[in-house]
Amino acid sequence: AHEGILRRQSLRESAARTYARSLPIVPVRARGLTIEGADGRRYLDCLSGAGTLALGHNHPVVLEAIKKVLDSGAPLHILDLATPVKDAFTTELFATLPRELAEDARIQFCGPAGTDAVEAALKLVRTATGRSGLLAFTGAYHGMTSGALDVSGGATDVRVSRLPFPQNYRCPYGVGGERGAELGARWAESLLDDPKSGVPMPAGMILEPVQGEGGVNPAPDNWMRRMREITADRAIPLIADEVQTGVGRTGTFWAVEHSGIVPDVMVLSKAIGGSLPLAVIVYRSELDAWQPGAHAGTFRGNQLAMAAGAATLAFVRENRLADRAATLGARMLGRLQGLATAHPCIGDVRGRGLMIGVELVDPDSAAPDALVPPPAPELASAVQQQCLDRGLIVELGGRHSAVVRLLPPLTLTDEQAMAVLDRFADALAAAER
Ligand code: PMP
Repeated sequence: AHEGILRRQSLRESAARTYARSLPIVPVRARGLTIEGADGRRYLDCLSGAGTLALGHNHPVVLEAIKKVLDSGAPLHILDLATPVKDAFTTELFATLPRELAEDARIQFCGPAGTDAVEAALKLVRTATGRSGLLAFTGAYHGMTSGALDVSGGATDVRVSRLPFPQNYRCPYGVGGERGAELGARWAESLLDDPKSGVPMPAGMILEPVQGEGGVNPAPDNWMRRMREITADRAIPLIADEVQTGVGRTGTFWAVEHSGIVPDVMVLSKAIGGSLPLAVIVYRSELDAWQPGAHAGTFRGNQLAMAAGAATLAFVRENRLADRAATLGARMLGRLQGLATAHPCIGDVRGRGLMIGVELVDPDSAAPDALVPPPAPELASAVQQQCLDRGLIVELGGRHSAVVRLLPPLTLTDEQAMAVLDRFADALAAAER
């Protein structure tokens, strides 16, 4: 079955197919960190549905919540009508939000993917401000629909102005940390305040507190606070895209909590649906300038996703899994940094909580005057394949696909974490040869 399924799918599926290309496996069962393939092989899944599975695969509380809805006879599809399931989800979500926002927030159910919620956020701030321009960042990823694409890495929309994201020292702008944060903030100020810049007052600014697909780039806290000041001073709504960073992943429930800022709009998806499709925006009520029906859509009331999502949010909150992600993530980063001292091909190790990136470089082909060696996408791809051979699923990211990304479930045990890193270290050694 295994080979046949792979062959038929590769013949019939679009040339754009993504994960299936680098991960030729046929999952038939999954539990927690583990996936079992049709060929009987087992894998440790550190991709977690691109960061969706906060509790891993088929967590008992998620299955229980889904079964409860199925057994209750509740409607499975009911557009966006009010239901007890929806009420419970909204109540649980609001209990997790930064208090200042929760006290005065509105929620718009979008649907069903992260990119839909990004579109809603862009449309909301444009409607509320009557302006059309947007500020976005280098290395950003917000989705695959046209509006989201325009605020992602390679913008094409002339109304989108791009600012440098302060990455680690491998940033194309060469500066990260606090100095990069300050330079980036001044850049934003001059763009907005200098009439010669030609940038009209934008409708909003959209950022990821930690860029995920862009190669795991955590924004410095100080930079987040400066962006909040700059936008607040000019009445520009600030949109935080927490599609990937949310629900404990980075070591706080929402990643904006690291810097303590409160955005005007939060874009939420992935983990909030407890492994089923769900996406919402929450925003300050004063932005709620929409006319009734201004943002409709058939699939905005997935009852199973809301039930699975509410159970996930509650489990992460009650079991303090964000704290767990912070401690375990720091330990994993430490061990990876140790690995980096022994392997010059590791150019950088970075992350926050259980959102970790290992950037691979080619020290031998660095130009004599280069500050940093060039990225090594072929090595990264070889490491990914060697990981797969050792039963470990990892994803690649970053502009050159040279960053190996680890996004394990927050329920990862210490032993599992060490098993993941053992396999990774073996895979790296094999790929280097
Ligand atoms: N925003 C961020 C930060 C993301 O990481 C992603 C998905 N990786 C999206 C938006 C888009 O979500 P989706 O793939 O569900 O459309």
